[in-house]
Amino acid sequence: MTWQDDAGRDLVKSFGARMQMFVRGEGSYLWDADGKRYLDFLAGIAVDSLGHAHPVFVDAISTQAATLSHVSNYFATPPQLALAATLKRLAGTGDGGRVYFGNSGAEANEAAFKLARLHGGTERPRILALTDAFHGRTMGTLALTGKPYMQEPFLPMTPGVEFIDSTVEALEAAIDDRVAALFVEPVKGEAGVLPLPEGYLAAAREITERHGALLIIDEIQTGAGRTGEWFAFQHEGITPDAITVAKGIGGGFPIGALITFGAASELFYPGTHGSTFGGNALGTAVAGAVLGEIERADLVGNAAERGAQLSQAIEAIDSDLITGCRGSGLLIGVGLRHPVAKALVAAAQEHGLVINAPNDETIRLVPALTIGDVEIDEFIELFTASLRTVEDALVLDAPTQLSTSTEVPA
Ligand SMILES: *Cc1c(COP(=O)(O)O)cnc(C)c1O
Repeated sequence: MTWQDDAGRDLVKSFGARMQMFVRGEGSYLWDADGKRYLDFLAGIAVDSLGHAHPVFVDAISTQAATLSHVSNYFATPPQLALAATLKRLAGTGDGGRVYFGNSGAEANEAAFKLARLHGGTERPRILALTDAFHGRTMGTLALTGKPYMQEPFLPMTPGVEFIDSTVEALEAAIDDRVAALFVEPVKGEAGVLPLPEGYLAAAREITERHGALLIIDEIQTGAGRTGEWFAFQHEGITPDAITVAKGIGGGFPIGALITFGAASELFYPGTHGSTFGGNALGTAVAGAVLGEIERADLVGNAAERGAQLSQAIEAIDSDLITGCRGSGLLIGVGLRHPVAKALVAAAQEHGLVINAPNDETIRLVPALTIGDVEIDEFIELFTASLRTVEDALVLDAPTQLSTSTEVPA
């Protein structure tokens, strides 16, 4: 029996076949059961902010596990209060902000959805969200996710959500005083690392405020310093009503949070929401330590600097396959001229590199925020070799197609 047999028999079929089995990680490297080493530029989908087995992460989890792990939300614990204060400070909520803790991105967005309903009441039944944005896979967050093919098998959706294009004009045309909230993903990661148009967030802030609607920003992928600011909304200097975070704040420990600003912080009242695990001492101690290390080592600055360096180095690769880089900081989408992203991911794995393809023409790079020259140089070497492998296969398969068409036979 191989691990593939076990996975194929025992694991839920909602994911495709597992591409690899990893047994160990350290920094930006992973090892499979045969001892082969991989450079990890996926970092568990923008989760492992400090890389694998970082001493700060390991120490926080061991120390807190030996002290106090879970007591339920009938009680407070020091790491929970410390993390709430840290998130408020980093997000810039001021004293009036509040934090709700869950265990995942979807749970953070579920809380945000309920926040929007509490704000809307019966007067404001409408919620606006952006076409192609991703907010999660629970029934509530799926209703917020503007991808018909994902919703279709699970209809009917929770009512009230309408999808609009990511333009200021579309927002102006759609909004009125019956809208409770606008949900925004500042860089659409799952859709192919698509940034919003410049100035969109500032305009959305002004328009939602004018109509009394909440502006809720999903920072689950963009938060924790990944884009070169603590949160992506800070690039535009606005104050939202709420943001959601998860992925990178736990550095590999499952945790999510809804952070509210100003009047939105007063909407929940006792009994309106909750979670058994959410905000427990173990998870909040780990996230507190991860954010502390990101701050101490200025990994937010590193994300900005290394992101620019990495994008430049990729664009300097001599390959007809690459159309260019987009994104922000260390959330990078590499555009491809042909729909070969999945083949490129497979070739990269052969070469010992872990990357991801959110769609057929995009490679998503979300490495640990700790990367430096060594990892970037090695990435360029392995990525270039992977591109060559795919280019060679393309030329063999379809010598005339490569230069004349954007379609490549499967
Ligand atoms: C990953 C992601 C989610 C969902 O988070 P889960 O932890 O998988 O539930 C929601 N929104 C965005 C923008 C994400 O990237």
